[in-house]
Amino acid sequence: MRRHFLILGDQLHPDPHPLLVDFNPAHDHLLMIEAADEAQHVWSHRARIALFLSAMRHRADGFRQLGLPIDYLTLGSHPHARLADALSAHLATHPTSVVVMLEAGDLRLQDALRQACDAAGSALLVRPDPHFLCSLDDFMRWAGDKPGLRMEFFYRWQRQRHNILMADGEPVGGQWNFDADNRQPFGRQGPPPRPQAPRFARDALTQAVIDEVRARFPDHPGSLDDFAWPVTLAEAEAALADFIRHRLPDFGRWQDAMWAGEPFLWHSLLSAALNLKLISPRQVIDAAVQAWQDGKAPLPAVEGFVRQILGWREFVRGIYFRHMPALAESNQYAHHTPLPDWYWTGKTQARCLADSIGQTLLHGYAHHIQRLMITGNFALIAGLEPRAVADWYLAVYVDAVAWVEEPNTLGMALNAWPGMTSKPYCASGAYIKRMSNYCSGCRYRPEQRTGASACPFTTFYWDFLIRHQPRFASNPRMALPLKHVARMSEAERSAITDYAEKLRQNLEAI
Ligand SMILES: Cc1cc2nc3c(=O)[nH]c(=O)nc-3n(C[C@H](O)[C@H](O)[C@H](O)COP(=O)(O)OP(=O)(O)OC[C@H]3O[C@@H](n4cnc5c(N)ncnc54)[C@H](O)[C@@H]3O)c2cc1C
Ligand code: SF4
Repeated sequence: MRRHFLILGDQLHPDPHPLLVDFNPAHDHLLMIEAADEAQHVWSHRARIALFLSAMRHRADGFRQLGLPIDYLTLGSHPHARLADALSAHLATHPTSVVVMLEAGDLRLQDALRQACDAAGSALLVRPDPHFLCSLDDFMRWAGDKPGLRMEFFYRWQRQRHNILMADGEPVGGQWNFDADNRQPFGRQGPPPRPQAPRFARDALTQAVIDEVRARFPDHPGSLDDFAWPVTLAEAEAALADFIRHRLPDFGRWQDAMWAGEPFLWHSLLSAALNLKLISPRQVIDAAVQAWQDGKAPLPAVEGFVRQILGWREFVRGIYFRHMPALAESNQYAHHTPLPDWYWTGKTQARCLADSIGQTLLHGYAHHIQRLMITGNFALIAGLEPRAVADWYLAVYVDAVAWVEEPNTLGMALNAWPGMTSKPYCASGAYIKRMSNYCSGCRYRPEQRTGASACPFTTFYWDFLIRHQPRFASNPRMALPLKHVARMSEAERSAITDYAEKLRQNLEAI
């Protein structure tokens, strides 16, 4: 009996595709399935849906050109919302003893597929995904029974064992970290002339997908008007080359800076192509290191970039698989305030939030510091319900896949799950003022804690510290902000708490 080789929408690796090492076209069949529920279990941005469908259909064309037998089930070709139900129906008409797949990046989906195979009496063979530089087994061995995992130590271990930016067992340049050179603000004068972000013209297939997404998902959030993401292997490689040439040299320097109306700055814009597996982390890291060796990019920029790919990206994946399902439902601060509607519309008077959410709705993209220190920081200090926030992040970004979104949101930004960072990423309006020009055009004042002109970030920041003071008392990294709280009079503290509560009751109006 032939085997079904199931390829998911985020497993579009280049040839030779790693799932197909023992694929025998005489007996085996490739299977790819589009399912509406993948767009609907969180209310996905239309650009995210279009990206997945277009990339899947292009990749399926590639498999057909190689002459591989493939069953490709489009959204319109079957009545099932859930991917697992579509698989069940397929197995009923195309029975098989074995379904083979690479490990899914979403445990919800992996479980559902396993149940579908069990019910059909087919074995499900799940193989490790060699896309990553750290296998899950290696991560679990590294993590062992350490109580708190820190990205910095994982990153150093990865650099050493893969011999990346190392010389004679030491980090090149004599240090692991160039944060002192990186992460600068633009200052009053604003960013220097910026390279254009690459745009990939829509071919007929992508245009047809966009028309279909408009028709099928009319009330989903997000615009399709500006869709220009890479959707093929060749476009993903071109996107990488464009970044290395035009933006990598200044990547580190402006990594944390924000500027109104500037969605992309010097960021790589590679996360979606990486997460669909159109390009590999090894390829991306090699290209960046080569640029440094060729004298085309400085070491701090290259190290800062390699840290994101070799360190953070692989670290959060390990965290996801090690700590699900607890991670998904974590809420250590017992925060329960509902997500305000303006997270879905961008219609708020807070300029930093309006700009970050506005570009998210337009492009399905915001850069890391906007996700962490604007939308994430606000959700943390205002006390928004973590699950609702995580579902929002999973819905609105073109690069969102559970294994990377959940730990970033619940572990890093919201600190709802405590094991990932040594302190919460909370900040007042003063930080946002330093790192951007948002505050200059805003109706709120970043230095003001209470009153009609108070910056909501500043109010909620101090309120957050006051509310959770006992929990932070034993954390040396929180000592400085807590000293400021201690210096406040009782009256100042209650004024902040009262005003924060008033604001929280009327969040829609911010
Ligand atoms: C709350 C929150 C949610 C996030 N959700 C996602 C998500 O769903 N999908 C996703 O790919 N990234 C997510 N990130 C991480 C990061 O913000 C994005 O990878 C990055 O903004 C993508 O833009 P870029 O490709 O231009 O990245 P760059 O700034 O150019 O960074 C280079 C690459 O490094 C990797 N990277 C950087 N930081 C991280 C990180 N913390 N975790 C994992 N990879 C990282 C990405 O692959 C990225 O493409 C999230 C971060 C936060 C704070
Ligand atoms: S004043 Fe506050 S709300 Fe307004 S842009 Fe600055 S940080 Fe954001």
